Amino acid sequence: MVLKERLKAYARSLGFDLIGVAAAGPTPSADRYEEWVRAGRAATMAYLTRPEAIEKRRDVRHLWPEARSVIVGAMNYYAGDFPPPREDVPQGRVARYAWGEDYHEVLRERLEALLEFLNREAGRPVRGRIYVDTGPVLERAWAVQAGLGWIGKNSMLIHPRLGSYLFLGILLVDLELEPDPPFPTDHCGTCTRCIEACPTRCIRPDRTLEAERCLSYLTIERREEIPMERRAAIGDWIFGCDICQEVCPWNRRFARPTAEPAFQPREGIPRLALAEILGMDEAAFRARFRRSAIRRAKRRGLVRNALVVAGNLRARSLRPLLERWRADEDPILQEHAAWALERIEEAQVLLEGPG
Ligand code: SF4
Ligand code: SF4
Repeated sequence: MVLKERLKAYARSLGFDLIGVAAAGPTPSADRYEEWVRAGRAATMAYLTRPEAIEKRRDVRHLWPEARSVIVGAMNYYAGDFPPPREDVPQGRVARYAWGEDYHEVLRERLEALLEFLNREAGRPVRGRIYVDTGPVLERAWAVQAGLGWIGKNSMLIHPRLGSYLFLGILLVDLELEPDPPFPTDHCGTCTRCIEACPTRCIRPDRTLEAERCLSYLTIERREEIPMERRAAIGDWIFGCDICQEVCPWNRRFARPTAEPAFQPREGIPRLALAEILGMDEAAFRARFRRSAIRRAKRRGLVRNALVVAGNLRARSLRPLLERWRADEDPILQEHAAWALERIEEAQVLLEGPG
């Protein structure tokens, strides 16, 4: 068996569901990304818009001149549906990608094992660089180039037999491997379900997202306040949002629960109890979310989100905790707590009359 085929067989034994190879060079569809940045759609995510990062995204050899091949691995993280919400405990939903272990760490470890394999098998030392959402690499564009699927209107990579609940990781190597053919077709057709279902209507006709309005951006990346006009759309999403993937027919038909132990839901997830988040100190947050992608929001972001969800759910049982946050020294958390208390108050007035 040639080296690339043995590499793929080994990758599957490591838990990768898909693996493909592209030749290192200019990034396909980098122009679209640059237009998106120029149009100011990256909101406050400065790491996406810095000139040197744009330059590196244009060609993987700008990132690492020795790169000769781009190996793209994908792991299915779908772990089923949300359990029904509990009536007695106000909870916030966590996007599926954060139900299990932090994918950055899991995929990095597996790609390291793949690089070790190449070093054993290639007949010469092989050097590599690994990227799992951790550097200026357009992973999805490379996944299409390596034959793994197409980019849907919701901007996710979709595979015709697995759907889009896929983590992507990139291994650049200084070894020439025969490239796979790029994925040939776009199978979105006339479907517009993701566009219609998005609660903030942030999916644009050119298949890019208006990040500023996307709940994933607002609840994970954004450090400031959640704009008032976006709070109702957050509903009960405390971390991320899966709506544009849930409605996609390719997921409805083909997403199958992963057997990967690392991506099984952790205790207390996929629905986080708001009282737990609102009652947690920094040390408890760090311990609870060790090796979890939820750490990305930081405790302050997660508390801010929990306050918004508490308001949206009109969660009266959380009043004492909300009062505490209203007296916090952080003005953003104070304001979000006051907003949540007002929502609860309004709901009570509607129910009982002005009294
Ligand atoms: Fe819209 Fe949610 Fe998808 Fe963002 S993640 S584009 S808010 S449906
Ligand atoms: Fe494409 Fe429809 Fe899926 Fe959106 S919901 S990504 S349009 S197939």
